[in-house]
Amino acid sequence: MDDEQARRARGIALQNALEHGGSTKPGIVISKLLGELPELRSQSSALVGELGPITDSVNAMSESAQRAELESDHPDRLKDEPRQQERGGLPPLKGAAAGSVVTRFPPEPNGYPHIGHAKAAIINDEYAKMYDGRCVLRFDDTNPEAERLEYYAAIKVGLDWLGIEFASVKNTSDDMDEIQSRGRGLIEAGRAYVCTCKSDDVSKGRRQMKACPCSKKDAPDHLDRWEKMSSKYSPGDAIVRFRGDMESQNTTMRDPVLFRIIDVRHPLVGDSYRVWPSYDFAVAVEDSLDGVTHAFRSKEYELRAELYSSLLDALEMRKPAMDVFSRLEFEGMPVSKRVIRPLIESNAVSWYDDPRLPTLEAMRRRGIRPDAIRQFVLSLGFTKADTMAPFATLESRNRKAVDATSPRLHMVADPVEIRISGLDNDGVTMRNHPTEDLGGRTIPVADGEVFIPKADAGSDAGALWLMGIGNINLSRGGGVMRGEYVDDDLDSGNPRVQWVPKTGSRQITVTVPKPLFRGGQYDPQSLSESAALVEPHWAELDEDTVVQFVRYGYCRKDSPGQAIFTHK
Ligand SMILES: [Zn+2]
Repeated sequence: MDDEQARRARGIALQNALEHGGSTKPGIVISKLLGELPELRSQSSALVGELGPITDSVNAMSESAQRAELESDHPDRLKDEPRQQERGGLPPLKGAAAGSVVTRFPPEPNGYPHIGHAKAAIINDEYAKMYDGRCVLRFDDTNPEAERLEYYAAIKVGLDWLGIEFASVKNTSDDMDEIQSRGRGLIEAGRAYVCTCKSDDVSKGRRQMKACPCSKKDAPDHLDRWEKMSSKYSPGDAIVRFRGDMESQNTTMRDPVLFRIIDVRHPLVGDSYRVWPSYDFAVAVEDSLDGVTHAFRSKEYELRAELYSSLLDALEMRKPAMDVFSRLEFEGMPVSKRVIRPLIESNAVSWYDDPRLPTLEAMRRRGIRPDAIRQFVLSLGFTKADTMAPFATLESRNRKAVDATSPRLHMVADPVEIRISGLDNDGVTMRNHPTEDLGGRTIPVADGEVFIPKADAGSDAGALWLMGIGNINLSRGGGVMRGEYVDDDLDSGNPRVQWVPKTGSRQITVTVPKPLFRGGQYDPQSLSESAALVEPHWAELDEDTVVQFVRYGYCRKDSPGQAIFTHK
């Protein structure tokens, strides 16, 4: 290399190291260098030796030293920091000061986490990072009828997978004594009352904007009734209601429920409590207690913001800033438990990890990477209009995320056998990736017996360029397809075809998820499974590896015998 070539190589090494946590490799630098200076191709093997000292020296530097040298000597190679750039989709927070922002993600442990949870968690996580603040994970578990230990665990697993690190993790149920005492305080102060009307009458009164007789009683009566809620009353006999505004245009303000009796064992606190707060009351108290400065909710809660604010005023508690963002769903992939649960119960969908679902577990099985989900969410920004995103938008983000780490592999569906004569070696060694340094593998061809896709075999004769082998002339005789090796001329113009050896290939199932719903209806054809042959190297890959099956698309290795289609 001359000086200018060496300078370029160093710039590439610095840039690549900064993109990969501070280290790079000669194999990566060489492929990028040859891309910039094709005239060096003939000397590529000598170059590898010369690049070693360059990458060693770059890898020995701190990331800040690498960045400083890139900035001063190779400014053309500077890229915007992708994370900061992506955070650009999030507007600044009002009244936020660096170091003092506290956000929270408050899922109810009543189901498996899905793309909607991912959006909320990522936005809160990003805002905390943007302001060098803290994000709290709080399980909002005050409805024991819906909550199960299994769901707490599933949500935590999903959030860990997304790479979200919380400053602290807690449960609303941890604070039940505090929440009940604040509720009692409201009754004492005359800001809430215990209503023993029938639930139909409560609904009717709210519709007709009429206060119920209970609201006219005095605080001591209500405190007495409050005590009875823990012991004497049965579920449905009594509720605590906020003194809101029965004539408000905002229906959530018409003396809403703050507490109700639920006689169901809670997954964490067991039978310790039977008077449980409503979502509105629990969230307001907890946000304030947790020191949350900026709270976000999805748009369907927009009307409840007034109640949130009024409750905190009545409680004389500190009020976080509240903002709403849109819900996120994919077309044809509903997130609603009401829709998904019956499909699971009728076996139309196997479980919450069925690859057609928008759950995090399903997307993980499908080969979607968490960093792609984060970038996708941030690219949508902080929109307030509901977002019905095409799944293809996430797929294109994911393609960029997986391409550089996905080994290329030969897979043949609908195979036809060929016997090739004239081969003079036992195996063909191929790179696992055209540009990245993912190593190589040898595919055995000792007996010359291989499978190719039937669609490429033609009817009787023809010529193909079998990848890694070379040009083959095909002929059919005695019911068997025969191939004769011709040469390895890359410019033959013959169709380029992948193949697998007859010996050592594995039979696997390729599962292809399609949109679960079409035109609003469940599509029974939304999952297809087909048998395919894959080259022996498949057996050596770890489960969870995303591969690119040549001329087919990306798939994730779900088990030794199953690949799940990710995307083209
Ligand atoms: Zn009443």
